[in-house]
Amino acid sequence: MKLCRFNGGRLGLVQAEQVIDVTTALEALPSQRYPYPSHDVFIAQLDALRPGIEQAALTGQKHAVTGVHYDPPVANPGKIIGAPINYKAHAQESAEDKSIGHGRAITSIGDWGMFLKAGTSLIGVSDEIVLRFPQRRNDHEVELAVIIGKTCRQVKASEALACVAGYSLSLDMTLRGPEFQCFRKSIDSYAVLGPWLVTADELTDPGQLDLWLHVNGQTRQNANTRDLIFDVPRLIEFASSFYTLQPGDVIMTGTPEGVGPVLPGDWIEAGVQGLGTLAMRVAPQYA
Ligand code: MN
Repeated sequence: MKLCRFNGGRLGLVQAEQVIDVTTALEALPSQRYPYPSHDVFIAQLDALRPGIEQAALTGQKHAVTGVHYDPPVANPGKIIGAPINYKAHAQESAEDKSIGHGRAITSIGDWGMFLKAGTSLIGVSDEIVLRFPQRRNDHEVELAVIIGKTCRQVKASEALACVAGYSLSLDMTLRGPEFQCFRKSIDSYAVLGPWLVTADELTDPGQLDLWLHVNGQTRQNANTRDLIFDVPRLIEFASSFYTLQPGDVIMTGTPEGVGPVLPGDWIEAGVQGLGTLAMRVAPQYA
């Protein structure tokens, strides 16, 4: 199942180049009282909602996939978790190019651990990336994103894929510089997710996916998730050895080689095999 959020709060089922409005399926969500859960309630109920989504699709209004505004497919991720230096060739370029690493010793994800991006940085693929700090380097990073489906902690890699609700395409936009990642990578609009999420039953092996990114028509990144240093199961094991993972938590799995700067007005196109594509303008002005 491919599911999107669109046009400001609508739920869509993506089928055969159409977005079918299945928003009425959300009426089955349990009513919540304050304090609301700290996870995403739609992702938590995804399996239970499936029959209702299929039912709603029979009569739902249809839109062309090119004709809607895509909001991020997870509305309220409790955590957006990032994976630094998780492809060897990207570790290599980070060690060689001082404007990427800023003097940090580039070791391994196992040594660095993971990092969090603020929820306020999240946008969908129909929104604009708005850069800040004109004097500094702002980079694109195309990544496979994993969306966690259930609460879990200290998960073994061998059992980790059972915790996944689905997958999506993401951009981990990055301001280069000396600050911690949680600061530099958390600027508004620096976490792109979408256009939709593909449920885990449709993607049994996240470790064999091509991913690519172009800027103004020029190829910058072109790789495959088989080259991840920590693959998806290991990332879930690693993240959950520190964080309790909750439904709707997003793990951006790391970027391959080819990161580079973008400037206002640039046009970014990107894709992950089986998960869709995006084409986004970088806003013409810095914020
Ligand atoms: Mn990244």
